[in-house]
Amino acid sequence: MEKVEKDHAALAEEFIKDEERVDWHDGALWWIRQKRDMAAKNIPEWEALREAASQIKNNVLSNLHDYLLEFEANVTKNGIKVHWAADAEEHNAIVYSILKEKGIEQMVKSKSMLTEECHLNEYLIERGIDVINSDLGEYIQQLDNEPPSHIVLPCIHKRKEEIGEIFHEHLGTEKGVSDPTTLTRFARRHLRNVFVTRRAALTGVNFAVAATGEYVVCTNEGNADMGAHLSEVQIASMGIEKIIPQKKHLGIFLRLLARSATGQPITIYSSHFKKPREGQEMHLILVDMGRSRQLGRPDFRDSLKCIRCGSCMNTCPVYRKSGGLSYHNTVAGPIGAILAPNLDMRKHADLPFASTLCGSCSNVCPVKINIHEQLYKWRQVIVQEGYAANTKVLGIKAMAWTLSSPTSYSTIGKAGRWVLNNIPFAVNNKFNPWYRQRDMPDSPKESFGEWYAKNEKK
Ligand code: SF4
Repeated sequence: MEKVEKDHAALAEEFIKDEERVDWHDGALWWIRQKRDMAAKNIPEWEALREAASQIKNNVLSNLHDYLLEFEANVTKNGIKVHWAADAEEHNAIVYSILKEKGIEQMVKSKSMLTEECHLNEYLIERGIDVINSDLGEYIQQLDNEPPSHIVLPCIHKRKEEIGEIFHEHLGTEKGVSDPTTLTRFARRHLRNVFVTRRAALTGVNFAVAATGEYVVCTNEGNADMGAHLSEVQIASMGIEKIIPQKKHLGIFLRLLARSATGQPITIYSSHFKKPREGQEMHLILVDMGRSRQLGRPDFRDSLKCIRCGSCMNTCPVYRKSGGLSYHNTVAGPIGAILAPNLDMRKHADLPFASTLCGSCSNVCPVKINIHEQLYKWRQVIVQEGYAANTKVLGIKAMAWTLSSPTSYSTIGKAGRWVLNNIPFAVNNKFNPWYRQRDMPDSPKESFGEWYAKNEKK
């Protein structure tokens, strides 16, 4: 297990130092959440679509083994070479061996959070392969040497002025230019050159149809298509949970995905890939990466229904105020906080606690995952397994003892009120993590019980 460097609270503390950024980040994501609401309300059958998507995914998860074998057989029949990878190491080694065999040293990559999970870029760069992320947001993050902070909007935490600086430093644009259209045009010219010179292209997979052996990639920039169509070797990396049984099910998910993600009726490009064109080689890597372990955890298996729309992040008050990078995991926000402890419980023990459990995430989820209930469940597992921070465990024990009897409750209440009223500096100091970011409440002179005992006979 990896060592924990900084937990969510410490990383969030760094993010919230810049109050203006927090307000702007919060507002930008809430604006997208509102667009999602309007898009959902414009479809009378929205709830029926969510229910259908949820049921289809239930079926997939219950029969994953069979669907995967069906998919593999059809993909192979279509002329695509199938590989299976149990973890990141195997996945990365497969990609490298494909490139090495062809003598390819440059690759373009688009829309694949899975390869971020696998740290593919670092792996290939160490072995002399040049990889460029073609999605504009991911490209900006790559230039700035940072991972994406959001699964749909990778650089949502950056201001346009910061992006202008990054472009100036790495791509030689004029200093001070921050107009989004100018920067986008510049990036497009630069990336076009990348597309036409790379012999290999790797994409992620949004949906994989078991019955036909095809897969669908959704983008707004068309970057996946450009890379894939111009390449001599095309590679697709997909998590094994991306399966849907039949093509007719696709419409349900495509209608839900873009509306939930950005409020658009549909992503601009929903491209189907089925077989290699003449002279092209296609590879598909099916990756487990802890997914079958999660499938075996009854309380958390529904998290595998996720279609990565990002809607739970846009609505989460904690995500909006603390920024995606504070989750120290490829998939951030509420769903990331469910997926991450499955990968490494010790390293990610803090994440299920980074939630108010308000339930807003579950309300917006297009596949009806009970996100907040799973977060609550993880908290119990993490404490039982002994991975919770000592301060948290002591706090919970103290609270359990306080609430265990009327006498202890009233004694602690009295002591607390006395401290707050007579020596407030005992709690209002920088050693109290609660006080560091909040005001301590004014304390009443007496408890409700005491007031009631005095006044009930009046
Ligand atoms: S858990 Fe639901 S809301 Fe969150 S990203 Fe996945 S599908 Fe979207």
